[in-house]
Amino acid sequence: MNDIKQCPICDSSEFTPFISAVDYTVSNDTFNIVSCNNCGFHFTNPIPTVDKIGEYYKAESYISHSSTNKGIINKLYQRVRKHTLKQKVKLVKRVGKGKDTLDIGAGTGHFLNACQLAGFNALGLEPDVDARTFAIENFKANIQELDELYNLPDGSRDVITMWHVLEHVYDLRRDLDKITRILKPDGRLIIAVPNMSSFDAKHYKEFWAAYDLPIHLYHFVPDDIKRLFEHYDMELEEMQPMKFDSYYVSMLSEKYKGGNIVKAFWNGCRSNLKAKNGTYSSQIYILKKKGH
Ligand SMILES: [Zn+2]
Repeated sequence: MNDIKQCPICDSSEFTPFISAVDYTVSNDTFNIVSCNNCGFHFTNPIPTVDKIGEYYKAESYISHSSTNKGIINKLYQRVRKHTLKQKVKLVKRVGKGKDTLDIGAGTGHFLNACQLAGFNALGLEPDVDARTFAIENFKANIQELDELYNLPDGSRDVITMWHVLEHVYDLRRDLDKITRILKPDGRLIIAVPNMSSFDAKHYKEFWAAYDLPIHLYHFVPDDIKRLFEHYDMELEEMQPMKFDSYYVSMLSEKYKGGNIVKAFWNGCRSNLKAKNGTYSSQIYILKKKGH
């Protein structure tokens, strides 16, 4: 295990235990989240070492999840994804000043494909070889290994997207340093992450599926995002809710808790009804360089 000695946002070394939760998907081991005494940021600590963390991703069957079309939940999932893809492309069109886009953690390439169909010069980066192969075979997607990140020229992309990826980034400060440099000066960085200040997070506590230990290394609220990007001279321009996530996360959380789908649906609804911008189950953050 890797003991984190410094807060990933403010470098402070004093932490307080916050919550312990089980890895329900792979190991059934218990992991801990701490909060920084200085800035309040919550992060998983300790975390598996970089050579071991891949083992905790083994439950994630990208391909089966995205290609089968059987059963009502899967049908619903496909519908929601289609709708969500449209919304995401619309957002990129609205905030982007040009056509050069980069999607980090592109997975099976569904969003990348939607970008290509919308006429963007879209590039995707993805660490998983099976997901990359799927994207290439099904969409002829322009997708490469994650390591390519460090070969991309600075100031070359109008929009960079990270859909539920930032919470997985092992070397956060180093990678964000490069990612924010790849952005053009007037570019936009779009980040979606779960929000631990949401109603569903507070309701489900250690069963909240979006803690997803140990592969979610960071547990953000909007203020954390603002402070994190101060390091890169970037500011938050806008926040958008992801309203379907409360249902999906509640469904998984009920499964872990031994509850049922009716409760999941009800809590998904409550989460959205009670939310203000900034307290939805997942939030989209649009960031820009200061002065642009
Ligand atoms: Zn801190």
